[in-house]
Amino acid sequence: MPFRTISGHRPLLELLARAAARGTLPPSLIFAGPEGVGKRLTATALAQVLNCERPIESDDSRDACGECAACKRIARGVHNDVLAIEPGESGSIKLEQVREAIDRSAYRPFEGRRRLVVIDPADELVDVAQEALLKTLEEPPPASVFVLITSRPDVLLPTVRSRCQRLRFGPLSPGDVADVLIREHDVAPADAHAAAAAADGSIGRALAGSAEDANEARDAAAQLLQSTASSTDPRRRLDGAKALVAGGGDRDEVSRRLLALSSLLRDMGLLLSQADDRGLANADLKPQLQSLLRSFDGDRTIRAFATVGEAMSALDRNASPKIVADWLALHI
Ligand SMILES: [Zn+2]
Repeated sequence: MPFRTISGHRPLLELLARAAARGTLPPSLIFAGPEGVGKRLTATALAQVLNCERPIESDDSRDACGECAACKRIARGVHNDVLAIEPGESGSIKLEQVREAIDRSAYRPFEGRRRLVVIDPADELVDVAQEALLKTLEEPPPASVFVLITSRPDVLLPTVRSRCQRLRFGPLSPGDVADVLIREHDVAPADAHAAAAAADGSIGRALAGSAEDANEARDAAAQLLQSTASSTDPRRRLDGAKALVAGGGDRDEVSRRLLALSSLLRDMGLLLSQADDRGLANADLKPQLQSLLRSFDGDRTIRAFATVGEAMSALDRNASPKIVADWLALHI
């Protein structure tokens, strides 16, 4: 999985590709960012570019070929110089695991040029293991690079954080998430867009949710928008709220529907600003969204988006889903 095949994170990937070409890669790195956006994939791509037998060079940057024996072994997770340290059965990463990696990294790489030690997730390192790492992170052995992957960098000891260069991974755009689902996971386009809209920028989350749930959430959200679009009659609006709590008003379900609603409103905002369609999370619903825009001008769309945000916070604070849905339908 060379850099060029990874979705999103362009500036960050270019930074790594340039550092690889110039030989200026910092030896201790933290990859921080939400779950399921490609941090581990990027670490694999980095291991490949550092060890590739036929790297592709262009404009002051370098990428792996993805085809040579080294690239293939790294992709399969069987390269001797790429060590993955992961939690054991206890759920945490123990001192002994870290000691072993430190011992191994003192030797020259076995088959490649650079050794990469990937600790994932680094926030599962017990404190003594983090302390044992300090000296190595400060001055890693010449041929080794340490990558600490985490969605919770603040859990790491400040002394660990200060010794590493931190790269921040943001969420992926819904369009990127949908692309990956379609391209790499054979998800049908409509399902991919629905799942991406509900996944908040995480491929991991998009794959974890069921397509059925995501589609259902989006339908309910679209129904609420339809019934509130042109109606000022409170009764009709409250009927729309029923779509949000249909099926019993389970908190997770309502929260999924609100997420879908905010995704539809975000897309309507994009359509109003004539932005590129590629940014649309719900590109497959474009005609329906455009017809909603006959009732939603820019101000109303922005207000509605903020109102959905308030409803989501209220739900997080344990407000009753039914009351939240009614309030939303009257204010959107
Ligand atoms: Zn290669």
